[in-house]
Amino acid sequence: MTVAELAEGVRADKRAVLARAITLVESRRPDHQALAQELLLAVTPGPDAPIATRVGITGVPGVGKSTTIEALGNHLISLGHKVAVLAVDPSSTRSGGSILGDKTRMGTLAVNPRAYIRPSPTSGTLGGVAKATRETMVLMEAAGFDVILVETVGVGQSEVTVANMVDTFAFLTLARTGDQLQGIKKGVLELADVVAVNKADGDHVVEARVAARELSSALRLIHPRGSLWRPPVLTQSAVEGTGIPEFWDAILRHRTTLQEAGEFDRRRRQQQVDWTWTMVRDTILGRVEHSDGVRSVRSEVEAAVQDGSLTPALAAQRILDAFDGR
Ligand code: GDP
Repeated sequence: MTVAELAEGVRADKRAVLARAITLVESRRPDHQALAQELLLAVTPGPDAPIATRVGITGVPGVGKSTTIEALGNHLISLGHKVAVLAVDPSSTRSGGSILGDKTRMGTLAVNPRAYIRPSPTSGTLGGVAKATRETMVLMEAAGFDVILVETVGVGQSEVTVANMVDTFAFLTLARTGDQLQGIKKGVLELADVVAVNKADGDHVVEARVAARELSSALRLIHPRGSLWRPPVLTQSAVEGTGIPEFWDAILRHRTTLQEAGEFDRRRRQQQVDWTWTMVRDTILGRVEHSDGVRSVRSEVEAAVQDGSLTPALAAQRILDAFDGR
């Protein structure tokens, strides 16, 4: 299939073609990557095209991300949207634990023709997975999906990575109060635009509301009065579907607030620039690591750092000196 045919199939939302196109952007083969870039250029919309809403959703395993995405996705489809679900999970090759973007955990959404669920590529570095996800997002938008939900689990850098590829970053948590609040990483609260306490049902409704109030106070310290946006803390039950429309309304309010202040476009443009430099860094690092020169001194230099005969700074210099630039 030619790039033009792939582009046409993607734009017509032909699912088999879309799947092929995504496989192409996920491939690490240099010839595939070259084709993928051609394809991305071919489907990139003009400046007047409608802008999809990109939402990141994070939280520890078991908090209810899949259940929330299923409920939210169905709600969005009832509003007339087309919903794509992607995942960033560089650790998804691990055995056990839930696989993000697992269709069986989003049963009704997975079979809805107005939804498309793509699990995370199962191998590769975070950088590689992030690149594939960003590029898949462009394909999904070209295919007419106007809401993109990106699921991630709070492992290492993956939250920061996802926060940098979406417009609104949502953090799901469970009812935690007092000391338990300390267990929530401050970093994730700094990234969050919307916070929702999930599983606010049955005997846990009151507890969830108390937790939401405490979290709200904690957030006020991060976002002082006068900030453009102060993240709301909501309560919801993904299994019962309560609070899900309000969760979506908060996401829309966030988007409108940023748009009215001119921040929305500025952030998107900055994300593109940051992304460009991330790829430059990743590419250079890959070249250094795989260069013949570096390969020939690597074990010796590492051993010298380990036994203390070389300082890390001198070792880094030796490695860079050995890099032959190819
Ligand atoms: P994930 O690992 O974050 O994707 O979590 P899941 O969506 O797979 O949910 C983990 C477990 O919590 C499942 O057994 C769900 O049925 C349950 N669960 C998810 N949301 C809720 C909720 O709102 N209320 C209750 N009571 N259980 C929930």
